[in-house]
Amino acid sequence: MTEIIDGNAVASEIREELTGAIETLADAGARPGLATVLMGDDPASQTYVNMKQRDCEEVGIESVHVDVEGDAPPSALYETIGNLNEDPAVHGYIVQAPVPDHVDYREVIRRVDPAKDVDGFHPENVGRLVAGDARFRPCTPHGVQKLLESADVDIEGKDVTIVGRSDIVGKPLANLLIQKAEDGNATVTVCHSRTDDLGEKTRNADIVVAAVGVPELIDGSMISEDTVVIDVGVNRVEADTEKGYELVGDVDFESTEERASAITPVPGGVGPMTRAMLLYNTVKAASLQEEIDVSL
Ligand code: NDP
Repeated sequence: MTEIIDGNAVASEIREELTGAIETLADAGARPGLATVLMGDDPASQTYVNMKQRDCEEVGIESVHVDVEGDAPPSALYETIGNLNEDPAVHGYIVQAPVPDHVDYREVIRRVDPAKDVDGFHPENVGRLVAGDARFRPCTPHGVQKLLESADVDIEGKDVTIVGRSDIVGKPLANLLIQKAEDGNATVTVCHSRTDDLGEKTRNADIVVAAVGVPELIDGSMISEDTVVIDVGVNRVEADTEKGYELVGDVDFESTEERASAITPVPGGVGPMTRAMLLYNTVKAASLQEEIDVSL
């Protein structure tokens, strides 16, 4: 029987655990604060930012949102970043990607105070993660780790194939899974658009993580029996629905479910975990800055 790993349920458990830590911090006069910054008016980004704000409200994290005009000069965004770096009530913040084309996203990330970089994208935080001393684990890879843990998947010594080498999913996840640590010690293969014979790499794996952005790229013929499959992909495809589209993952669920021992659905798998881990990082940021231990 294939286990369907329920990301909503695991995320809800994590939010519940965080509530205690948030109250401890609030009682000490240090309620965690998260800011979201959106430059421009991309509708998908607006939806993501709204969800992040709502998540904060639900668990008792103070949240603020800053809009920056899409055609403003980069300096307008840098000024916002400078203000947030100085604001003691803001323990963490994210600049929603993508930023408009005339803004250099790497420069944006470099300007974020690493102590408030709850996305974990600042070069200092990337370096710490690679060195095995992570301050903030990036939200999606951390969410994937939590899902594996929730399904009792021991990754030590296992072959993991990650499809996708982005800076926000594939690369940090690979780095986390190879760490000499209790939740690491896997042997990781990272694939990308230039990989030869992708199917051979996925069939040889005990665990496949798909983070590609290509609808249903991985199907049942590309995995072996009893593989654990984590689908990070979220793709809009045209469909005969009210909205005119539906969300599908990078994995063809139907054919893969038949062979996998466990699989995450889309939606309801990795997505809710990414949101929960942002709250986790915000609470951790507050705990570190306020020097109050909440055992995260
Ligand atoms: P990117 O576009 O940044 O990276 C995609 C990666 O997939 C690249 O490394 C690319 O290779 C590789 N790739 C593309 N086509 C193929 C192919 N045919 N075969 C093998 N590899 C291929 O995407 P992200 O990492 O940002 O996101 C990936 C997916 O995950 C998207 O659907 C996104 O929406 C989703 N996502 C979901 C999140 C969640 O919370 N559920 C969070 C973040 C992302 P190359 O490097 O050679 O170009």
